[in-house]
Amino acid sequence: MLFEQHEIWRVKHASDLETMPCPFCTKETPMITAEKLASALGESTRAIYKLIDEGKVHFFETANMHVFVCLASYSNRSQE
Ligand SMILES: [Zn+2]
Repeated sequence: MLFEQHEIWRVKHASDLETMPCPFCTKETPMITAEKLASALGESTRAIYKLIDEGKVHFFETANMHVFVCLASYSNRSQE
């Protein structure tokens, strides 16, 4: 599944979405929770966590156990 740039912004601008800037990207890139990314993509959260486990996407785990995934790194992964 190709995750186009405009899809990123559509996801980012979807209502009721928590985002935070990616601490690994040089540019400020939005991150959203793995659950919300999965539901936005119609994927299982398991598929998202697999990418995290394989180190294919930037992620950040908050103190309250929310896992945020970098949308830019997700998009770059899709183009491989
Ligand atoms: Zn990133």
